Amino acid sequence: MTISEKTKAIRNRMDIAALKANRNPNDIKLILATKTVEPEVIRSALVFEKNFVAENKVQELTRKAPQLKGDKVEFHFIGHLQTNKVKEVLKYADYIQSVDRKGLVDTLHKQLSAEGRTLNILMQVNTSYEESKFGVSPDEAEALAKYISQHETLHLNGLMTIGKFGGTYSETQACFQLLCAVRNQLETLNLPNAKLTELSMGMSGDFELAIETGSTMVRIGTAIFGERIYPDSYYWDENK
Ligand SMILES: *Cc1c(COP(=O)(O)O)cnc(C)c1O
Repeated sequence: MTISEKTKAIRNRMDIAALKANRNPNDIKLILATKTVEPEVIRSALVFEKNFVAENKVQELTRKAPQLKGDKVEFHFIGHLQTNKVKEVLKYADYIQSVDRKGLVDTLHKQLSAEGRTLNILMQVNTSYEESKFGVSPDEAEALAKYISQHETLHLNGLMTIGKFGGTYSETQACFQLLCAVRNQLETLNLPNAKLTELSMGMSGDFELAIETGSTMVRIGTAIFGERIYPDSYYWDENK
C-alpha cells in the first residue's frame, strides 16, 4: 500500500471503531505523528480536507512546517517542550498537546501576551506513572488545570496521554480510562477558559481501544509511515 492508501485505511479503521462504540466518527481526529518523516513523504498522507501533523522535536517542526504550509495542515506539538524553545515553537505550532508544568504555562503566556494572541492546548497527563515519560501526574492534574485556566491566552481544550509503553491490553485500557476519569473530574470544576472536550490518546498499536474508551484525537506514526530507526525513548527522554 502507498502512504496515501495506508492513511485512508487507518481513517477507515477509526470510523469503524467509532461506529462500533456508538460514536460519531467526525468527533475523532487523525493526527499524523511525523517524527523522522520527511516533508515529501508527509505530503502523501495529507489526503483530507483538513490534516493534522504533529511533531515531537522543535528542530523538526521548524524545518518541516514551512515546507508543508498551505497543504491544509494544522500543526500540533506533542513532544517535551523546553521553555527556551517556546518562542520558536509558537512560530509554527497551531496547537500544543504537551503542556505539563507551571513554568511552561508561564513562558507560553508571556510570549502569547507579547504577540497578542491565544493558543489551543492540551494538558499532558502521565497516566502510566512511568518515570521516563512526561506529563503531570494524575494527582497534580487539578492544580495544574486551575493554574492554566488563570492564563487567558491559553485555551485548555482537554488532555493528552501516552499509554504505558509496551503495556498489555488491560494496562493500556487502564491508562485511557484514567485519562477519562481525570477529565470528568476536572469538568466538575467549571474552570474558566477550559472546554475539556478533547482526549488525545491512542497510537498505532492501540487506537481502536482508545476510540472505544473515548479518544477524540489518535496520534498515528508507524502504521502509516513504517518503523522508525530511533527508538521512541529518543523522543520521550529529556536527555536526548
Ligand atoms: C511517536 C508518537 C506517536 C505515534 O506512535 P506510533 O506508535 O508510531 O503510532 C504518538 N504520540 C507521541 C507523543 C509520539 O511521540
